[in-house]
Amino acid sequence: MSKKLILKTAEEIEEIRKSSLLVGKTLAEIAKLIRPGISTLELDKVAHDFIKDHGAFPGFLGYHGFPNSICASVNHAVVHGLPTSNALKEGDIVSVDIGVLWNGYWGDSAYTFGIGELKEEVEKLLEETKASLYKGIEQAVVGRRIGDIGFAVQSHAESFNYGVVRELVGHGVGKNLHEAPEVPNYGRRGQGIALTEGMVLAIEPMINLGTKNVRQLKDGWTIETHDGKPSAHFEHTIAVGKNKAEVLSSFKEIEAVLSAKN
Ligand code: MG
Ligand code: MG
Repeated sequence: MSKKLILKTAEEIEEIRKSSLLVGKTLAEIAKLIRPGISTLELDKVAHDFIKDHGAFPGFLGYHGFPNSICASVNHAVVHGLPTSNALKEGDIVSVDIGVLWNGYWGDSAYTFGIGELKEEVEKLLEETKASLYKGIEQAVVGRRIGDIGFAVQSHAESFNYGVVRELVGHGVGKNLHEAPEVPNYGRRGQGIALTEGMVLAIEPMINLGTKNVRQLKDGWTIETHDGKPSAHFEHTIAVGKNKAEVLSSFKEIEAVLSAKN
């Protein structure tokens, strides 16, 4: 990625927050509907219409030719899965990744949903992948480096012997969905570029129950684990802060819906 690193003004960060919060609201709509029997193609339509109804654009649609509004990656699919008409089943997990483009600024966030009762090891994979995201976010403060984020994510995930995907990384977010810098989910403390105010990053651990190795399917999009074991993915768009990162996207509405369902 030879992309430019573009620092954002406070006003721009507010625009990115707006887009990012709409992603969270859209994911909460999906949370309401997700259950055994529904297809990811149905969820795609709901997300598409919900975003459009807010006067925003589901930015993944047509992005490098991507055919849908959400990425839906089921079980051993890691990311970039294409929505299908297959019914989700009890015990499945599905990472839903959404990008919103609104007033010229992107928001990018992803959440992995469990369908009904999950195997204990899969439930734990989801929990700890989300925890690894917050470990990474803790490091996104002025004075730290990109490697500190990756180190924090990796150490947390590997303490459970999970595989940390190397081929796909987080990224800067702004007027473009993918800007510099790359934000790997692995790394060494104190390495990489220094974090400064005005940096807006998508941090997105992709964590596998088994091997870290992945491959791309012939559909040209879906990335799946090499050993067929499940993979989880959580993503927030954040702004680097002086003492604390500011999380611009939100899981609050998603989790309110999920806890009301249980
Ligand atoms: Mg995303
Ligand atoms: Mg992203």
